[in-house]
Amino acid sequence: RQAAYAKLRDVEPFTRCGTRITVMMNAGLRDDMPGLALTGADGIGLFRTEFQFLVSATLPARERQTRLYRDVLDAAGDKPVVFRTVDIGGDKVLPYLRHNDGESEENPAMGWRALRVALERGGLLKVQARSLLEAAGGRTLNVMFPMVTEPWEFDAAREVFESQLAYLKTQKKLLPEAIRYGAMLEVPALAEQLDVLAPKLSFLSIGTNDLTQFLFAADRANPKLAERYDWLSPAILRFLKRVIQGVAGHSVDVTVCGEMGGRRLEALALLGIGIRRLSITPASVGPIKELVRKIDLDEIGKAMNGWLMAPPPSLRQALVDWAQQRGI
Ligand code: PEP
Ligand code: MG
Repeated sequence: RQAAYAKLRDVEPFTRCGTRITVMMNAGLRDDMPGLALTGADGIGLFRTEFQFLVSATLPARERQTRLYRDVLDAAGDKPVVFRTVDIGGDKVLPYLRHNDGESEENPAMGWRALRVALERGGLLKVQARSLLEAAGGRTLNVMFPMVTEPWEFDAAREVFESQLAYLKTQKKLLPEAIRYGAMLEVPALAEQLDVLAPKLSFLSIGTNDLTQFLFAADRANPKLAERYDWLSPAILRFLKRVIQGVAGHSVDVTVCGEMGGRRLEALALLGIGIRRLSITPASVGPIKELVRKIDLDEIGKAMNGWLMAPPPSLRQALVDWAQQRGI
């Protein structure tokens, strides 16, 4: 695998028509960081901070969190890292962080998780905010919140960061040079309020893993349902296209950070609806950069437009044929 990485590492993801596509990788541990140099990814588009919590027997202390975030930023050098605040709860149960009533949940994916936990257990988010702000002293901090459902949740989470920032100022600590706040779009309801949210965002990251399970009402972890939906269905692609249109006109970077973006045909479809930034599993970075170089955005854009206006019996098959005809 390392040899395959090396071969594609220096491939620059310019499309045939000359547009630079941003291809970043997802990570969650210190050990993932060498992947940046190995794959030649443009940065870490999703750093899953909950991994540190999941491998720890107790809530990671502030110093440990700060150390991890600083190490990650050091390892990334000039490349950007987008830290996602903890996405715990749901199926990622921590023995030391339980719901108040100790009850287990019938639908954990739609339950007490992610930002819902972080806002209710304010101490948790405060400690993480302080750790991230300190770790990013003198640099840019990119932070995003998972499972945002309503714009006020984004405001509340941002407020926690801003008050920690104010505190660090009084302590004369080295502050981040800039802070960029983003939201993950994973809950379909948020798409209906993008006009409210967009002016407050620096970036929006679409988590297609959760988004599709909610759109199709099909548990992403249930193998019996794996055939129930296809990332290449008109429903998801039309939805994503509307999301892109929903933030157009605001200066919001839109990234897809779900597994979908790391698959060839899916990436092709995403480029076709206007996505220009992907964050994907490290092993997919090389192959997707290679794919990007074979694409003419105008051509795939027109094809996708037609297919989404009048969907063929199988959009997947249409994309397979389209790619085959062009030797892609
Ligand atoms: C997603 O939901 O698409 C996502 C990237 O987050 P996670 O897979 O960690 O839930
Ligand atoms: Mg998710």
